[in-house]
Amino acid sequence: MLRALRSLFGRVEPPAAVPPERWQAVEAGLPFLATLPSPDRARLREMALAFIAAKEWHGAQGLVLTPELQLSVALQACLPVLNLGLDSYRGWVGIIVYPGDFVIPRKMMSEDGVMHEFDDEVAGEAWEGGPVLLSWFDRPEDADGMNVVIHEFAHKLDMLNGAPDGLPPLHEDMSRQAWRAAFEPAYADFCARVDGGEETLIDAYAAEHPAEFFAVTSEVFFEAPELLNREYPAVYGQLKQFYRQDPLQ
Ligand SMILES: [Zn+2]
Repeated sequence: MLRALRSLFGRVEPPAAVPPERWQAVEAGLPFLATLPSPDRARLREMALAFIAAKEWHGAQGLVLTPELQLSVALQACLPVLNLGLDSYRGWVGIIVYPGDFVIPRKMMSEDGVMHEFDDEVAGEAWEGGPVLLSWFDRPEDADGMNVVIHEFAHKLDMLNGAPDGLPPLHEDMSRQAWRAAFEPAYADFCARVDGGEETLIDAYAAEHPAEFFAVTSEVFFEAPELLNREYPAVYGQLKQFYRQDPLQ
């Protein structure tokens, strides 16, 4: 019965042992891992396996969760918390992977009290206390320069202290004032550039909300650290302290 239910919802079991060629094939698709020193890469692989085992995975809309897909998602999800610990992803278990962009039916009450229903096309979503929804693109170029996985898991970190607002719980050696002094002017500057029609190198979606600015700059921090450090060095400095990593090193 359980087995039947699991297969009905596309649940899969974690891969038992991963041959080195499979790790290499998956990591080849994640070039930003190349800067990690080898002890860190080994730790990341271990953490990825623990993460796969700790979560409940589902493929939506017929998507088959191959071991390669799971390993790729897990490596990317674990990279931000490599020095923070898997406990950062406590309080929820579900990971639902969709083939490409997907549609979430929304209902929203407008100011005049009228309920509007519409379909929202998204590449990912993290629910407070609930699952992470992700798009999977077989060809990374279809992802449009985004890192959906790092983005959604940054939201999960932001949600550790309530609704996402771009201010995750900081470490003891960090200060909220320093965080705000870095992020607020950077966000204001970025919004002004986007509003002014500039083709920014950082995804314009970051201008949607301070929580999106945190999630998008987290993607850039890991995938293109030199870009973030050039555009917003103070933000880079705060993320370096928060993630306890320095991808520029
Ligand atoms: Zn987001």
